[in-house]
Amino acid sequence: MDGASTIRRPNSASLFDRAANVLVGGVSSPVRAFKAVGGRPVFVERMNGPHVYDVDGRRYVDLVGSWGTAIVGHAHPDVVATVQRAAAAGLSFGACCAAEAQLGERILSAIPGADRIRFVNSGTEAAMSALRLARAATGRSRVLKFAGCYHGHVDALLVAAGSGAAAFGIPDSAGVPPDVAASTLIARYNDLPDVRRIMDTHGPNIAAIIVEPLAGNMGMIRPVDGFLSGLRSLCDRHGSLLILDEIITAFRVTWGGYQNICGVTPDITCLGKTIGGGLPVAAYAGSRALMEQISPTGPVYQAGTLSGNPVAMATGIATLDLCRRDGFYESLHARSTALASALADAASAHSIPLVTDALGGMMGFAFGRPPLRDFDDVRGCDHQRFARFFHAMLDRGVWLPPSGYETWFLSAAHDDDSVAHVVDAASESFRLLNT
Ligand SMILES: *Cc1c(COP(=O)(O)O)cnc(C)c1O
Repeated sequence: MDGASTIRRPNSASLFDRAANVLVGGVSSPVRAFKAVGGRPVFVERMNGPHVYDVDGRRYVDLVGSWGTAIVGHAHPDVVATVQRAAAAGLSFGACCAAEAQLGERILSAIPGADRIRFVNSGTEAAMSALRLARAATGRSRVLKFAGCYHGHVDALLVAAGSGAAAFGIPDSAGVPPDVAASTLIARYNDLPDVRRIMDTHGPNIAAIIVEPLAGNMGMIRPVDGFLSGLRSLCDRHGSLLILDEIITAFRVTWGGYQNICGVTPDITCLGKTIGGGLPVAAYAGSRALMEQISPTGPVYQAGTLSGNPVAMATGIATLDLCRRDGFYESLHARSTALASALADAASAHSIPLVTDALGGMMGFAFGRPPLRDFDDVRGCDHQRFARFFHAMLDRGVWLPPSGYETWFLSAAHDDDSVAHVVDAASESFRLLNT
């Protein structure tokens, strides 16, 4: 039952011991501690193209992509050259630079409903600021979110669901004041009647509905037909704002956001991850009238010492310019779809129930049976099996997210060889799971 790897990684082990004496739990972000899969974290020496190289001399095909940022592959030479040029001109200005508008123009040209943007440094900051803006614009305090959607570690959004019926939020973390958590209402993802019921009661107090339009923090879960357009109409009816958290999906599933695919225009879009190409960049965007309520044009205060950092902006520009090339998302989608279906075939050859899905550079993988529509469905998947699979794959040179609740990410650097390697490793690992 112990999922731990059978391969010794002495350099990783000693680095983790050292880190654990300094860093809380040995890590800078909790998922890296491997709690969900057991075993000890593997330390990285470098990442290049589709590959991870660890400190013990092992190579892996990467399907984490630094949680979605690495859309063009790691250390792409064009991006690195741009970063080096930008860095040589100064690491941080704390003043205006041309690159802010240049990155902003690229993003806004791809997000039709938005004509003003504010850059921040993390997705958490983007969601926090979007919520503050929604509260200011509506004069209301409550927010409705969905079980299984993650919007960063913002107090009011760090609330998961009770199972089933709508519940007043219960904090998901110590240190979140109960009053703050109680301002958050939780609905079931893909359950429009649930949302309608909550809005009928609480609508006049709800500043915003915030949602991942294509969920990526409970595996990859697609919205059912009519779900997002239904949220749009409910927001319109009740005078609430619709916030689409596209921090994963923007420029990951297509040029622009998932909103370009589903045709639902939000009041505020949150972006992150891919738009920084690996440096800390996130943003929120919306109509000019709404966004100009933010300081310095309006009364909603929001600022950042490192926001619009010149090196980070240059990295985002160089990354998006590679994504903008003809056929970029089509070939990414073809690659991830091929991988998803090859894995499904391999699992079914071993009679293992597996649900896979793919869109652009996102892939879903869950040991369960369809349909997977919400957090409870995903919770019902076999996460112990995932833990064993994770280690079997790690030992065969595949770098997966260390939890069954995560989306997998491919990049433009994933070629036939790296995809074939993943499929071979998975076939062996599936066989092992049955023994
Ligand atoms: C990663 C993520 C965030 C938080 O972004 P950070 O940069 O980690 O703070 C918010 N929303 C979604 C949908 C995310 O996937």
